[in-house]
Amino acid sequence: MLVDVVAAGGALILSGAGLSTESGIPDYRGPTGLARRNGASGVSGSTPMTYQVFTGGAGARRRYWARSHLGWRHIARAVPNDGHRAVAGLSRRGLLAGVITQNVDGLHQAADPVTGRAEVIELHGSLHRVLCLSCGQRTARSDLDRRLAAANPGWDPGSVPVNPDGDAALDDEAVASFRVADCAACGGVLKPDVVFFGENVPPARTRACYDLVEAASALVVLGSSLTVMSGLRYVRHAARLGRPVVIVNQGATRGDAYAAATLDAPLGQTLTALVAAL
Ligand SMILES: [Zn+2]
Repeated sequence: MLVDVVAAGGALILSGAGLSTESGIPDYRGPTGLARRNGASGVSGSTPMTYQVFTGGAGARRRYWARSHLGWRHIARAVPNDGHRAVAGLSRRGLLAGVITQNVDGLHQAADPVTGRAEVIELHGSLHRVLCLSCGQRTARSDLDRRLAAANPGWDPGSVPVNPDGDAALDDEAVASFRVADCAACGGVLKPDVVFFGENVPPARTRACYDLVEAASALVVLGSSLTVMSGLRYVRHAARLGRPVVIVNQGATRGDAYAAATLDAPLGQTLTALVAAL
């Protein structure tokens, strides 16, 4: 079913955290669909940052940026895996209508940096960019990384667990001694250019994704448990339009009832075999 749907051309990919786990970026929901960060991964007592908490106070932002400063090193050195390379291969062959990714790690683009191929929409934004909440300027995270490093000489709490959103576990003492950087242009509050929990995907981006679903011949979900509505709604939309939905994920997903076929299998191996079978 997966081979047939992709070989026919015009398939739209919807990818999630499961596609990046083989790049060493942990899937915090995992095969059970449960949040591992509540203890099981060693990242105890940590819940995802919400937009309301982030914008609500300087203390919360200091905590976020301190943890994220550590997490960024992990994200920045992650490289695409067999799954990303397979998707890039499908794109090069002209078989894809596009890629919608829920991941904020930039690994689809890293696997296929040449522009003009299948469009990649970063549904939840990207950790590779930073947004000023005052002037709206977007800048490279690598620039902010240099500024944060310069503002915090010698600050290094050592090796700590990292979540898929680039967050890292860190004790209060290390957070308290961290210095945050503001917008270099206007002094405003900086936020990673990602959609936090409690924040909506920008409407134009949502519409662009619906357009891709409508133009596609099929929807192929790769490595997402579809727990959040921001991804699940495209599965529902495809099913409503009569487009076949194929889901490849380790573990059950919230979209399984809409799928023409589901495949519970490792992503890298499955997608490499898919490309070989075409
Ligand atoms: Zn600014």
